[in-house]
Amino acid sequence: MKRVFILGGTAEARELAARLHPEHVVVSSLAGRVTSPRLPVGAVVIGGFGGSLGLARWLWEHPVDVVVDATHPFAAKMSEAAAEAAGMTGIPLLGLRRPGWTQEPGDDWRWVSSLEEAARSLPGRRVFLTTGRRSLPVFDGVPGVWFLARSVDPPDDPVSMEVVLSRGPYTLDGELALMREHRIDTLVTKDSGGELTRAKLLAARELGVPVVMVRRPPVPPEVPYVETVAEAADWVRATE
Ligand code: NAP
Repeated sequence: MKRVFILGGTAEARELAARLHPEHVVVSSLAGRVTSPRLPVGAVVIGGFGGSLGLARWLWEHPVDVVVDATHPFAAKMSEAAAEAAGMTGIPLLGLRRPGWTQEPGDDWRWVSSLEEAARSLPGRRVFLTTGRRSLPVFDGVPGVWFLARSVDPPDDPVSMEVVLSRGPYTLDGELALMREHRIDTLVTKDSGGELTRAKLLAARELGVPVVMVRRPPVPPEVPYVETVAEAADWVRATE
């Protein structure tokens, strides 16, 4: 039996907890960003640690054999802190990152390296924003552009955008209806990957709508990464 600490907030993190529990003792950590998060099985701690030192202290003070960073591909600060804390404590760390999306025939994707670059390079004037509520200030006020923003929780501060609150998974029919209703001519998304939110990309292809795709931030080079929950579970079982 291993004591496994999962940095979570993703479907893969919940699946990994479910796969390891109750064979292993699983504790999952959530940032506490959404008001009613989907909770994994096992114990859960909510709220940050205060950077890499705070996380290292937490790992020293709690019985943990291995850590899996299964945070979202865009949670770069947390992944960096996990790498540093693993270095400080010597506790084995694995990264679990689902693969990014791949462009297919008929897709019109324009890759950018940041949200700011996305806001500067919008090809249309009726934009569907799916980059999360904390990204909205970057786009709010871009002249001549109307935005439909979708997020799980309402924006922290008022924005001059139409906001639709919902949480995936989404269907192709639903995405087509939403994009048609609002006469969307541009979709902005992070390259989050995964099936739960992929339907918007299929809808964009079907409607001939260009997609501004934000590239993933780099992962810490010293950390080994796998792409599937099964591989992560195998690593936990095999790690001494
Ligand atoms: P981030 O920018 O890398 O992290 C910011 C801070 O939030 C971290 O420094 C840490 O605070 C705290 N934090 C992040 N993930 C945490 C976790 N799993 N447990 C405890 N504290 C955590 O990350 P983010 O983009 O804000 O994402 C926060 C959470 O939302 C993650 O769990 C991620 O998996 C999930 N999520 C993110 C996105 C996205 O697009 N970024 C999308 C879906 C879900 P301290 O420094 O105080 O430790």
